[in-house]
Amino acid sequence: MESEVRTIVDAASARILTPREGECLVCYVFRQLGEFGCDGTPRFALTFRDRTAPRATALMERLGSMGACCCDCEVFNNAYTFASRPWITGAAFGADIGTGFESPEPVDLREEFGINEPPAKVFYLCCQFVRRGSTQPCPNWVRMGRW
Ligand SMILES: [Zn+2]
Ligand SMILES: [Zn+2]
Repeated sequence: MESEVRTIVDAASARILTPREGECLVCYVFRQLGEFGCDGTPRFALTFRDRTAPRATALMERLGSMGACCCDCEVFNNAYTFASRPWITGAAFGADIGTGFESPEPVDLREEFGINEPPAKVFYLCCQFVRRGSTQPCPNWVRMGRW
């Protein structure tokens, strides 16, 4: 019984841990941090690189030069922030391709994100996709000003 549960958990986390087709580095790390939190290492950036861009050996160096050398949350503290118009949707398909947010009060998606959808308590940040093997962020993200 126990090992059966273990197998299910392993299968679920393997699915979550696998970058989605076309998903960019930054959306991937963002999604994983939401799911598992940071453990003080750049484990998700490394997983992304190993699974999608194993030849991008300079990736960690590049992140380091942006102030994100040592753990995944530094990517969002020092390197990248939301673009003014990230791809946000309140529609259900977002659950499959995006990272979910839950708000206690309905969020005015039109006002906050400029999208033509009714206010929602649950909405999703969806990756705008990059070509395979790329370690660049999609247009959801911009570099922080000071770097
Ligand atoms: Zn961290
Ligand atoms: Zn993305």
